[in-house]
Amino acid sequence: MLAARCPGCEYVYEVAAGDEHEGFAAGTAWADIPVDWCCPDCGVREKVDFVPVEPERSVA
Ligand SMILES: [Zn+2]
Repeated sequence: MLAARCPGCEYVYEVAAGDEHEGFAAGTAWADIPVDWCCPDCGVREKVDFVPVEPERSVA
């Protein structure tokens, strides 16, 4: 999985970009994200709720 979108809002986690605010460096695999991690935007949905999507940004 290279990207996953929160079903409750439009937040998308992209592996290539990571999320520094959440402490995930660029390239942090989806599998390495804690299971109890919550969506940083809505704070309602958890990792298991995320839906796989195609990454919007391509990795050069
Ligand atoms: Zn969300």
